[in-house]
Amino acid sequence: MRAAAEINLAAIGSNVLRLKAAAGDSELLAVVKADGYGHGMVPSARAARAAGTQYLGVALPEEAIAVRESGDGGPLMAWLYAPEDDLAECVERRVELSVASLDQLQQVVAAAVKVGQRAPIHLKVDTGLGRSGAMPDQWPSLVDAARGRQDRGVVEIVGVWSHLASADEPESGTTRRQIEQFHAALDAVAEAGVEPRLRHLANSAGTLVHPDARFDMVRCGIAVYGLSPGPAVGTSASLGLIPAMRVTAKVALVKRVPGGHGVSYGHRYRTRRSTQLALIPVGYADGVPRSGSGRIPLSIQGVRYSVSGTVAMDQIVVDIGDAKVRAGDDVQLFGAGSHGEPTADEWATACGTINYEIVTRLGPRLPRRHLGGAA
Ligand SMILES: *Cc1c(COP(=O)(O)O)cnc(C)c1O
Repeated sequence: MRAAAEINLAAIGSNVLRLKAAAGDSELLAVVKADGYGHGMVPSARAARAAGTQYLGVALPEEAIAVRESGDGGPLMAWLYAPEDDLAECVERRVELSVASLDQLQQVVAAAVKVGQRAPIHLKVDTGLGRSGAMPDQWPSLVDAARGRQDRGVVEIVGVWSHLASADEPESGTTRRQIEQFHAALDAVAEAGVEPRLRHLANSAGTLVHPDARFDMVRCGIAVYGLSPGPAVGTSASLGLIPAMRVTAKVALVKRVPGGHGVSYGHRYRTRRSTQLALIPVGYADGVPRSGSGRIPLSIQGVRYSVSGTVAMDQIVVDIGDAKVRAGDDVQLFGAGSHGEPTADEWATACGTINYEIVTRLGPRLPRRHLGGAA
């Protein structure tokens, strides 16, 4: 195979156990949106369920339907939809929907009425992220309206929730203020006579470093896949997480070129002396960021190299000097790092981004191979 992303489902299982331990008495929601952060949504969901996650979470209704289509009937939440989306199938399939405004409440109510079923919802408050969620001044009226619908049997308020802005910066005061805001929002909920079963706020970073953000449930994404939410939180190893993805390729061609030879588009790399170039058949269409041109690390036969010159759509080139590398040899692009190969964290640094983007933006052209699990 030209190149592939190998997904270690046993690592996902191990990470879920680690996060359940960190969550203590709180339930765990494993986030499998965006194709399981690039790891394959359905196999990741199965591995997470097998390891005991109580909930699964996705962004979009169509992601939730795909989880249901795979045979999963357990607790499942979706939080992002457009005003024109028909949510009837979600309600019918017991997908729990986020509601952050009166308009969204109306949209979910319409779906519930259409299918003649009560819609399970999680009311969302903006405690300071400045993204989705009702602002505190709109919150009491949203809670009131939802309670009215609940009294009439149209919706069931399962949860109240919010999302953290800076949990990956343990020293920032933002998380503390958001926790306070969340408590205030919960007080308003109690005053309205609503008793949701699940209050939830924390993402991976919140789960790992802010015990008082855990409430009744935590929502973990990146850590499920074995990656740290940020350098200030720790490394995969220090957090007890195992990166689940390993991306490999085969050297497509090795050739000798003279000194002074320009390499790849724009000749942004030029050989200093007679050397060999190895052609690796992956490029930005496969998710190797072009912004990492000249910097992305990889290893061949245990030796580290950096990409030489510009990352092209389908291929990269590496100056391997006089190494005895042949076409067909294995290239380690990134992985857990346990055998000296680069990590997604190192790729993120080389590309000026975060590990989330490295794994999530792997292209659909790169085959995913799932190992070590029931899936
Ligand atoms: C993606 C997402 C998460 C998971 O965040 P991580 O940092 O990957 O743990 C949790 N909650 C919401 C609302 C999200 O969109």
